[in-house]
Amino acid sequence: MRRGLTILVDYHLHTKLCKHAQGEPGDYLAMAKQKGLDEIGFADHMPVPTGYDAAHRMEIGDLEKVYFTELRKTQKKDGNPTVRIGIEADFVPGLEDVLAGVLSGFPFDYVLGSVHFIGDWGFVSRKGVGEYHRRNMDEVFREYFALVREAARTGLFDVMAHLDLIKKYAYFPDKTYDPWVWRTLEVMAEYDLCLEVNSSGLRAPVGEIYPGPRFLSLARRLGIPITLGSDAHRPGEVGWAFDRLVAAVEEAGYDKICLFHKRKRMEVSLH
Ligand code: ZN
Ligand code: FE
Ligand code: FE
Ligand code: ZN
Repeated sequence: MRRGLTILVDYHLHTKLCKHAQGEPGDYLAMAKQKGLDEIGFADHMPVPTGYDAAHRMEIGDLEKVYFTELRKTQKKDGNPTVRIGIEADFVPGLEDVLAGVLSGFPFDYVLGSVHFIGDWGFVSRKGVGEYHRRNMDEVFREYFALVREAARTGLFDVMAHLDLIKKYAYFPDKTYDPWVWRTLEVMAEYDLCLEVNSSGLRAPVGEIYPGPRFLSLARRLGIPITLGSDAHRPGEVGWAFDRLVAAVEEAGYDKICLFHKRKRMEVSLH
């Protein structure tokens, strides 16, 4: 692995509690160590007590009983790499108070904000793929980025995850969607949010990181700090294609990366 960075973090790891990931936290940790990561953070799909998208997340009762308990054990293993406990929280219009309640009730190190649904349409899951044929992609991309901006403005999140996830299955609008991304980055800068640079798009039909590399230099110019994530749903995906992530962020002029502890952000130098 190319090591331009002095600190390498993977802040987007799942656990099998979400019902679609595999492996024990200790296996993720072992892989991180093998790949030379300095810090990892688990960010599994947040439980939503109202039953929203229950198929892809843990029950609320498991958050303390299983998630924190297991991950605290993992933290104690030997402290190398450092293990942080985050969460990947879905932004859903109308559920802000429910979200805020869960987020304030637990000592997360950081909160990733995600949009996985447009209305009832789960556009990430394989089951939802047929819908891409039926919809107008100009509309879909416009709606998606409007949701991401709405999420950014809630102040509930520390990091926006996989910023242009709507491109996952490589269905695109006829017109360029770049201006929607630019506007979203401007809102993130205004609200002082961190941007996740996520390698899981390289494992998806789109074959490109999130956000697309062409957006990173604007993010850099706007002063938006970054962190890195693989979105691993199995131990073998920890640190996935991080050489390409690092190359992309360096190309865009980044020389710092963010770490989080108890929802406090610090930037550490890459060189
Ligand atoms: Zn997942
Ligand atoms: Fe996600
Ligand atoms: Fe994820
Ligand atoms: Zn994700």
